[in-house]
Amino acid sequence: MNNVKSGPCVVCGHRSEDLSESFEILFFNCPRCGLFRITYEAKEFVENLSEKHLISGFIREEHVRRRKPFIKKSDLAQIISTAPREVLELMDRLLLNLQAMMIPKIGPVAIAPGEDYSLGYCENEEVFNYIIEMLRADGFVKSSTSPSYNLTVTPNGWRRIREISTENRMTSKQAFVAMAAAEEYNQIYLEGIEPAIRATGFDPYLAKAHKDPRMIDNRILREIRKSRFLIADVTGHRQSVYFEAGYALSLGLVVFWTCDKKDKKNCAFDTRQFYHVFWQNTDELKADLIDFIGANIH
Ligand SMILES: [Zn+2]
Repeated sequence: MNNVKSGPCVVCGHRSEDLSESFEILFFNCPRCGLFRITYEAKEFVENLSEKHLISGFIREEHVRRRKPFIKKSDLAQIISTAPREVLELMDRLLLNLQAMMIPKIGPVAIAPGEDYSLGYCENEEVFNYIIEMLRADGFVKSSTSPSYNLTVTPNGWRRIREISTENRMTSKQAFVAMAAAEEYNQIYLEGIEPAIRATGFDPYLAKAHKDPRMIDNRILREIRKSRFLIADVTGHRQSVYFEAGYALSLGLVVFWTCDKKDKKNCAFDTRQFYHVFWQNTDELKADLIDFIGANIH
């Protein structure tokens, strides 16, 4: 047992067990983030990040949702752009994580703020204590007072969780497809995107299949809000596609960016940091999307 190395967690700095066996993939057991793997490339990116706590929050949340976090550089832009930041968002997220921790054994959750502030995507213990105070003031949780808490979700809290779940579209079966509307792109949808969405158990909503293809109206925004995730095929680089993808990102939806490899050089500068699948044919697009949806939508 004494050959276990220890050192600061590469994400949050907490003293952790370093279980890495290679230089390419680092493996940590951090009391604040939990057990996670991270590529060396991603670690270098995180080191220069001012909002490291968002990555820590994401890793912790993956644990709460019973997944095994493995952080790659290509995931980071998405993680950062969809992480909660405002007080009300932090309250909702903490409540959802508490709910997941209370199941299947319904009972109080013991919380140590110094190690558990990652559960609320918080930057530090002070912010976390404030978020709990707000949840208590709203009557969503009951707890003993700081420095450590035994948190229980109240009936009001359970009602709020039901509301958020609907708002969050966590149970939605709809996948929104944002893509250029002209006929020349039909194959991309019919042979690549649509079969991939159906193969993974979702129902596609293609904006151009419904009325005016060029107009982004309230109906489109409503359909994005109802969707579980969004596929943005930016081939042809229509502004509406980038707009719809940006709107989805702001709502916290997972966005899959795809593009015909031949059209790669025209990708919008501002979104290039998001991971794109550059496909060479529709079979490849379909296969990549099936892998992506399977790995990211649970
Ligand atoms: Zn950590």
